Amino acid sequence: MANEGEGVTGSCHCGAVRIKVPNPPEWVASCNCSLCTKLAWLVAYYPDDAVTVSGETVPYIWGDRMIGIHHCPICGCGTHWKTLGEDFGRMGVHARLLDGFDPAKVEVRLFDGR
Ligand SMILES: [Zn+2]
Repeated sequence: MANEGEGVTGSCHCGAVRIKVPNPPEWVASCNCSLCTKLAWLVAYYPDDAVTVSGETVPYIWGDRMIGIHHCPICGCGTHWKTLGEDFGRMGVHARLLDGFDPAKVEVRLFDGR
């Protein structure tokens, strides 16, 4: 893991999208909703203004969900999700994209999204 004071960076597979977060996740959420199951998302949560996403991303919005789930239009990696209106006070970052992320070394909390 990167030095905590300097934040943690990450990127999608092709490198077009870069993400920076303030610290490595202490835990991540593994959600069992219909989308996360297919995409194998492990989500780390941060305040919206603590996350920097650079590069073009495309939001996927489905059902009556109030969030846009973004991915890289080139390589298809899921990158992050953000609210479309209601302020949740946080956004989700796909922890698998973060440099040095090892799912075996963080707590994975199961989230029942079905
Ligand atoms: Zn990409």
